[in-house]
Amino acid sequence: MCGIVGYVGEQNSAPILIEGLKRLEYRGYDSAGIGILDDGRIQLIKEKGKVSVLESEMKKRQVIGTTGIGHTRWATHGIPNQVNAHPHFSSDDELMLVHNGIIENYKELKEFLIQKEYIFKSDTDTEVLVNLIHFFYVNNNNNLYEATRQALLKVNGTYGIAVLSRNNKERIVIAKNGSPLVIGIGKGENFIASDVNALITHTKNVIYLEDGEIGEITKDSYFIKSLNNDSISKEINKIEMDLEEITKGGYPHFMFKEIMDQPISLNDTLRGRTILEEGISKLGGLHGFEERILQSKRIIISACGTSWHAALVGEYLLEKCTGIPVEVEYASEFRYRNPIIEPSDTIIFISQSGETADTLAALKEAKRKGALVLGIVNVVGSSIARASDAGVYIHAGPEIGVASTKAFTSQITVLILVALLLGRRKHLSIVDGKEIIQSLNNLGDLVNEILSQNSEIERIAEKFVNAKNFLYLGRGIHFPVALEGALKLKEISYIHAEGYPAAEMKHGPIALIDENMPTVFIAPKDAIYEKVISNIEEVKARNGKVIAIIDKDDKYVENLVDHVIRIPRTNELLMPILTVIPLQLLSYHIAVKKGLNVDQPRNLAKSVTVE
Ligand code: GLU
Repeated sequence: MCGIVGYVGEQNSAPILIEGLKRLEYRGYDSAGIGILDDGRIQLIKEKGKVSVLESEMKKRQVIGTTGIGHTRWATHGIPNQVNAHPHFSSDDELMLVHNGIIENYKELKEFLIQKEYIFKSDTDTEVLVNLIHFFYVNNNNNLYEATRQALLKVNGTYGIAVLSRNNKERIVIAKNGSPLVIGIGKGENFIASDVNALITHTKNVIYLEDGEIGEITKDSYFIKSLNNDSISKEINKIEMDLEEITKGGYPHFMFKEIMDQPISLNDTLRGRTILEEGISKLGGLHGFEERILQSKRIIISACGTSWHAALVGEYLLEKCTGIPVEVEYASEFRYRNPIIEPSDTIIFISQSGETADTLAALKEAKRKGALVLGIVNVVGSSIARASDAGVYIHAGPEIGVASTKAFTSQITVLILVALLLGRRKHLSIVDGKEIIQSLNNLGDLVNEILSQNSEIERIAEKFVNAKNFLYLGRGIHFPVALEGALKLKEISYIHAEGYPAAEMKHGPIALIDENMPTVFIAPKDAIYEKVISNIEEVKARNGKVIAIIDKDDKYVENLVDHVIRIPRTNELLMPILTVIPLQLLSYHIAVKKGLNVDQPRNLAKSVTVE
């Protein structure tokens, strides 16, 4: 899940590579490096830490050359240090490679190469790959493309790679299997990157590589082939996103910007997708598939992390509106337990990046077994989008903060639109459909109303900066919101937090309650409000501290608890979109007050492209 960039052209590549790496840093940031080829001389600079460390090191040196590759790492094999940072050289310093992914059979390949007298400096699987390519390179008259192709035929695992060699000036060989890779087409210059973010200031014309493809770029040409050496002709796509969309826009952190952006991102998700008079939604990406989905005996929603929490909300929405049984599966578990999948199943995969390796692997398994596969993703043209039979983009705009916020609310919004589309052909009346659409249309204003309480939420956060543990409790459709609130806090403030259905508290977690244990209750006035009040009483009876998310006209709970955050009411199915927002702000402010880097929390990466 690292970031990769590469450049061949007439400009000095170093600033282009550094700029690209900065845009990719959300993908991994434990070390960074670049390698630049200049007239048969390879210059390699790599540093532990962020791209800014690499940048200041480069300023001290004069690094010049028109061909180069760069990498920002998210370590899988070997600790994050300078030696394990990419690029990696072959033993004789002739080849240089950057890699995203995992070479699963690296141990046996390494033994083979050690017998052939290759020497290893790092603990990475990547260094094995560069030496394996080198082994074929010397046996193929220094033909870098052919050597890479032959080496990859021996490799099991995932990779997006870029390789340079001293003897193949002004060209970069690339290949992809399971990790994203895209070529940017310029004039007299070409680029490669693991994500279009890195290319956007240079070109809008891109080619997405597919798994099992290998290619080569020079400054004015490129080709793409299969690993069997068959030529493949590829479509050039135009990127619509602009730079403005991927910058912080004056906010101190991407996460904060993305939380505050939600009135806009939700509108973008909804734009042109509802027909009020008919009380139904219009989803071009599912057109022609509605009947097949409605005939499904079962719908499975599969995802990881925050998207999995959106899936749990989706279970509630789809069952209620369609009457079709819905199951939710962790994508990471789904694939390995040989799930029973029938061709009569519809399986929805949710991923912000559309590159989540676990989700993609589960999707492929579902397709093999003949199910109808739908994708709900944010990144247009991503692997999951391309591999699905049909799907819906959430159109939330680029999400850079590692802790997902606006993607979550847009995922739920899309699930509501899907429930509306299908539900209107099943249990949902036109009156109910219209009511949902009217509520969706008002969502932006309601979200703004919650966001305007930012300062109050910040003051509450101040009181809990030193908490060691947190409980998040909610019932029904708000149980997944409790899970999501706990996950946000864990991710960015490193405070241990757990989400539970409120009624489960008495079956165990209640033992944890004391005056040091804050509990966040999601307690809007719904059918089980009274029961949640009883749960709040139980916590207060044990001196627990309570923060409650309540309806704005609720006069009862405020006398019972330590802090309240008030939210407006909307249609019951839309409520999770509102109740999660105070939880996003609470975790954000706690992390900022702890002095932590909220956009790049330790050990995490934005787009988890390893399994
Ligand atoms: N497996 C490689 C390593 O640990 C690549 C990791 C990445 O994708 O950043 O160095």
